[in-house]
Amino acid sequence: MNCNYCRNACVKSGIRKGVQRYRCKFCKKYQQANYVKPRIPQEKYEWTIKLNNEGCGISNIARLLKISKSSVQRIIERVAANLQMPQVNERGQSYEIDELHTFCTNKKNELWLIYAINRKSKRIIDFFVGRRTKENIAKVVSTLQKLQPKHIYSDKSNIYENLISKNIHKIYPRCTNYIERANLTLRMHIKRLSRKTICFTKSAIMLKNCVQLYYCAA
Ligand SMILES: [Zn+2]
Repeated sequence: MNCNYCRNACVKSGIRKGVQRYRCKFCKKYQQANYVKPRIPQEKYEWTIKLNNEGCGISNIARLLKISKSSVQRIIERVAANLQMPQVNERGQSYEIDELHTFCTNKKNELWLIYAINRKSKRIIDFFVGRRTKENIAKVVSTLQKLQPKHIYSDKSNIYENLISKNIHKIYPRCTNYIERANLTLRMHIKRLSRKTICFTKSAIMLKNCVQLYYCAA
């Protein structure tokens, strides 16, 4: 066989655990012709979701489950890709909408989690991870508008004034208390959102995936 690293010829170099090993004559690396990756058991997929939703970061999960950090990331990506927000079939309810501030890699790179909850059931309706622009907020607002809301409560940001019609839009001090409390719960339950710690998000996609696990796989 040829070396996996430098493509030069290899010589046979003993058998380990029933598999023929090779050694490159040029770069002197030991290697196998084929590697079989051990499959991660389904049980660890389930535990990854549970631990992610209970305030464990990727390194925590890797240590507890004895798998590599990249395996944890892969599990989170795979599970999140197959999850969708549950369909909501309700009409005439009241909703609160808010943005939770966080950052990706460094504090100059700001990121927001924009989301909306039902005021009564506290159920999450929709969320979006990205910058706090009119287009991004409009995505969450449009989901709410499909449900023919009775009222939408928000903070004083002028973006909402342009998106939500005046007769259903409510803005007054402390009218978003329920969602502000939900923000705190989220910061307790998702490690990368917690404050006064050194945990932070290194990729916006992973933040979206982790939030997806939190809201959709519970
Ligand atoms: Zn080589």
